[in-house]
Amino acid sequence: MSIIVKNITKRYGKQKALDNVSFEIKSGEIVGFLGPNGAGKSTMMKIITGFIPANEGEVFVNNLNADDNSLEIRKHVGYLPEHNPLYLDMYVKEYLAFVASLHLPKKEIKKRVKEIIEKTGLSIEQNKKIGALSKGYRQRVGLAQALIHEPDVLILDEPTTGLDPNQIIEIRNLIAETGKEKTIMLSTHIMQEVEAICDRIIIIDKGRIVADDQTQSIKENKKDSKTTIIVEFNKEVSTELLKQIKDVHQVEHHKGNVWLVQGVENKDIRENIFKFAVKNDLSVLSMQKQEKSLEEVFKDLTGN
Ligand code: ADP
Ligand code: MG
Repeated sequence: MSIIVKNITKRYGKQKALDNVSFEIKSGEIVGFLGPNGAGKSTMMKIITGFIPANEGEVFVNNLNADDNSLEIRKHVGYLPEHNPLYLDMYVKEYLAFVASLHLPKKEIKKRVKEIIEKTGLSIEQNKKIGALSKGYRQRVGLAQALIHEPDVLILDEPTTGLDPNQIIEIRNLIAETGKEKTIMLSTHIMQEVEAICDRIIIIDKGRIVADDQTQSIKENKKDSKTTIIVEFNKEVSTELLKQIKDVHQVEHHKGNVWLVQGVENKDIRENIFKFAVKNDLSVLSMQKQEKSLEEVFKDLTGN
């Protein structure tokens, strides 16, 4: 288990930013940490990376307790903080050499800086001052500093916020590429982002976890245990006839010969629909489960 968070509570004065939060992330998993502004995402990430302490609870990274081993843990963790604070007056190469010097023996620095510059696509900008770079390239520098010591856990706090659509795709690809074989926890409030790169989603709202499941299951929205199937037949069929399908709860016409057929609770009625079609001399042209968009699920869960 790569990251274990157990009953973490964090207070800022009287406000509880995190309220008894627990979850686990296995090594190799890419987990999206989703939540509206102020939900507690950055606070949780700062606690995992050892930058601030919690009031209650425990965090383990690679089986090391974060309270007692914060320096050791930093060797295993790459962290891209929110707002990506960088030294704007430093040159890209100089800055990365500086970060590398905190982790690596002197003789390895030059080689590693060269490698990471290539890996993060910074070659043409490496001799510029960070302050002269576009936001997308600054994020590359942020990722480069997070990756420079070859950590196996990456904590990325809103890595694509503030980028234009092209830059978002570039940075996402870079994360997917450099993140192979790493454990990644990535915060965002962009649903498509988690859909594009995450195996699993943890949704947090007002300091509490409101969902924690595989991306696909969250989209299928297990909370609503009646599944709706979108089915297209080859010819006209009536509501009355469709209601004869075994275990059907509700039937709604969509368009043309396309129908929304909802099963009773906890039943997958696709096979029944198929048998029904055969019996009634109908062909099924297409059939799929209706999914909620992640936006809808997010709205349902966070009330935002
Ligand atoms: P997110 O990253 O999900 O937007 P944060 O973890 O930054 O949320 O913040 C969670 C809550 O804690 C917010 O209400 C925020 O205002 C509050 N908070 C965060 N940092 C501090 C701080 N240093 N002092 C006081 N309150 C804070
Ligand atoms: Mg934040």
